[in-house]
Amino acid sequence: MLMKSAALWVAWAVAYRCKGVDVWQLKVNSSSSWAWRKVLLLRPKVQHLLARQGDKMFWEGKPMEQYSAKRVWTTLRPKCSKQEWSKLIWGKCSIPRFSFISWLIMINALTTRSKLFRWGKISDDQCLLCGFSSESREHLFFACVFVQQLVQVAGVS
Ligand SMILES: [Zn+2]
Repeated sequence: MLMKSAALWVAWAVAYRCKGVDVWQLKVNSSSSWAWRKVLLLRPKVQHLLARQGDKMFWEGKPMEQYSAKRVWTTLRPKCSKQEWSKLIWGKCSIPRFSFISWLIMINALTTRSKLFRWGKISDDQCLLCGFSSESREHLFFACVFVQQLVQVAGVS
């Protein structure tokens, strides 16, 4: 696509997706797969980073002898500072399932009943454990009477 590559998926995309048309000229088609549309929609984001001089390609002004997905991803992905709590969640001995749920809690992405109610998926957002309040992250972990009693019984402080 961008360069001649030995990668099988590139040869497949050139043969079956591009069908002889330059990838930069292809139109985004609604009948295309989700993945192919995403690839085509990335073109405006990489166009200013990519340059061609004859047969040689340059990425951010540096010669691109061989395509590197890592190099492209590192350039394109949004970067943010590392969170202080990340080591607590993603430790070597952590259980991945618990780490993932903890991460969802920390970034407030846990699907609580209050969110499901806001999205119109359920008709009631009351906490199923206590029934006194809307089931939000803050309620579940800091204010729910049932959870507080459970923590007391478990002896965790
Ligand atoms: Zn509750």
